[in-house]
Amino acid sequence: MYKCLNCGKEVEVDLKTSKKVICPFCGYRIIKKIRPVVLKKVHAR
Ligand SMILES: [Zn+2]
Repeated sequence: MYKCLNCGKEVEVDLKTSKKVICPFCGYRIIKKIRPVVLKKVHAR
């Protein structure tokens, strides 16, 4: 997941298919990569 630094909306970008990362909402070119929330697996004994 990526987040636009201009409008702050989450943008899904496939870097494999498209090299240019542009926000589809505002056309901003600077998009920050954000990490999804990772759930930790806890093994309870
Ligand atoms: Zn944007």
